[in-house]
Amino acid sequence: MPVYVDDPEAEGAWSAGAASRWWLHHSLASLDGRLRERGSRLVIARGESGSELVRLASETGAGSVYWNRLYEPALVARDTALKQRLTDCGLRARSCKGALLFEPWEILKGDGSPYGVFTPYWKQWQKNWRPPESHPEPEQLRGPESWPAGVSLDELVLLPRQDWVSSIACHWQPGELGARQRLDAFVDLAASSYREGRDLPGCDGTSRLSAHLHFGEISPGRVASALNEAGDLPAGEGRLAFLREMAWREFSTYLLYHHPHLANKPLQERYLAFPWREPGDYADDLKAWKRGRTGLPLVDAGMRQLWQTGWMHNRVRMIVASFLTKNLLIPWQEGARWFWDALVDADLGNNTQGWQWTAGCGADAAPYFRIFNPVLQGRKFDPDGDYVRRWCPELAQRPASRIHHPLRQGESVGDYPRPIVDLMGSRERALEAYTTIRNS
Ligand code: FAD
Repeated sequence: MPVYVDDPEAEGAWSAGAASRWWLHHSLASLDGRLRERGSRLVIARGESGSELVRLASETGAGSVYWNRLYEPALVARDTALKQRLTDCGLRARSCKGALLFEPWEILKGDGSPYGVFTPYWKQWQKNWRPPESHPEPEQLRGPESWPAGVSLDELVLLPRQDWVSSIACHWQPGELGARQRLDAFVDLAASSYREGRDLPGCDGTSRLSAHLHFGEISPGRVASALNEAGDLPAGEGRLAFLREMAWREFSTYLLYHHPHLANKPLQERYLAFPWREPGDYADDLKAWKRGRTGLPLVDAGMRQLWQTGWMHNRVRMIVASFLTKNLLIPWQEGARWFWDALVDADLGNNTQGWQWTAGCGADAAPYFRIFNPVLQGRKFDPDGDYVRRWCPELAQRPASRIHHPLRQGESVGDYPRPIVDLMGSRERALEAYTTIRNS
C-alpha cells in the first residue's frame, strides 16, 4: 500500500516553499494515476508521520514499512525516531537507498572522516562507480483487501496563488512520465553537446531533471543507467561532464549530512564575522533583486526566469548569487530563502551548497576576490544576448554589443531601471569587507 504522509512540521524551518508545493501537488496526482494503472493507488494521510503509519498499518494488517532515505538534518531526526517507534509497535521498518548513487558514509577519506572539497571526493566517487542495475517495472501491484480512509490531495492545500503558478505550469510536467521524457530527450544531447552547452543560458543545453530528481520521480540510478546504455560511462566527455554534475548533487547532500548546521551557518566559521549590510539598509536592494529590477540585464533576466518558470540556469544562478552577496553585500541566507520559495527544484543540500560556494564561505569556495562581473559573463556566455532578450523584452532592441551593459547616464529604454549599484565601486567595497575576516 503506497502511502504519502503530509507532515510539514517535521521538516522544521525548511518545509517546502511555494513552487515546491505546486510541484508536489502535481507529482502526487501523477503518482496516484500511475499506481491506479497497475491496480493500486496512493493513500494520502495528514499528521504526525509515526502516528499515521501505525494507524494505517493496524487498519490494514500491514507488517512492514519501507521508505527511501532522505538526508536533510530534520528528516534524518524524524526518520530515526520513526524507525524506533515502528519497531516498538512490532512493525518491521526498513529504509533504503534511492535518492543517491552513494550514501554519505560510503565515500570517506582513509581516516574515516568526510571529504571537505569536491575534487578528491569526485576521484573516489569515480573509483567506486559501477553502472547501476536497472529493474523492470511491475505490471500489477497488489493492494490491501480494503483500502483505509485517507484525505484527498486537495485537502493538503498545496497549490499557491493561481496567476503565479499558471506561468510556471507551462514549463513543466511533474511526475514520472515527465521525468522520463526529459531523460529520453537528453540522452543524445548529453553525449553531443552538454559539455559546452551547459554554460550557455540562451540554449536548452541541460537536462532540466533537477526537480524530478529532487522529488524522487526518477532516481539518479536510472539516469546513470540510461547514459551508460547510450555508451560506456565514464567514456565520452559530455556524459562524463554530466556525471560530474550528478556527483556535485551527491556531494552537496554529503556536506549537509556531515555538517547539519550548513543550511543556516557558513561552513567556514570565520564568515560568521563577515560585515554584511543590515536589513534596514538593504531592504530596497533585496526587493529590486527579487523582482529582476537591478538594472543589470543578465541578473534581471535570471531573476525573471526564476519568477516565471520556477527554474534558473546554473550559470545565471551563480551570477545572481554573486551579485547579491558581493556587489550588494546582502547575506547569502536571504538569497537562499528566496530561491527556496521560488525554485521548483529547491533542494536543501544543493541550494545551501550553491549559495555558500558562490558567497565564498562553503566547500571548494570560489575565492572571495573572484567576483562575477555580470557584463563580462553575459558577453562570454550569452554573446548574442538571446537570454537577456527573452526574459527582459524591453531590452530586445538593444544591439548585441550593448545588451549586457547597464543603461548609461541619460539613456532610457522603456521603464527599465538604471543600475542600483556601481559594479566597480561595489566590487572594491566587497574586497574591503573581505579583508576584515581574511586573517581570522
Ligand atoms: P543539469 O546540468 O542537467 O545537471 C544534472 C543534474 O545534476 C541536475 O539536475 C542536478 O541534480 C545536478 N546538478 C547540476 N549542477 C549542479 C550543481 N552545481 N550543484 C549540485 N547539483 C548539480 N540545484 C538544485 O537541484 N536545487 C537547488 O535548490 C539549487 N540551488 C542552487 C543555488 C545556487 C546559488 C546555485 C549556484 C546552484 C543551485 N543548484 C541547485 C545547482 C544547479 O544550478 C541546478 O541543479 C541545475 O541548474 C539544474 O538544472 P538541470 O537539471 O538542467 O542541470
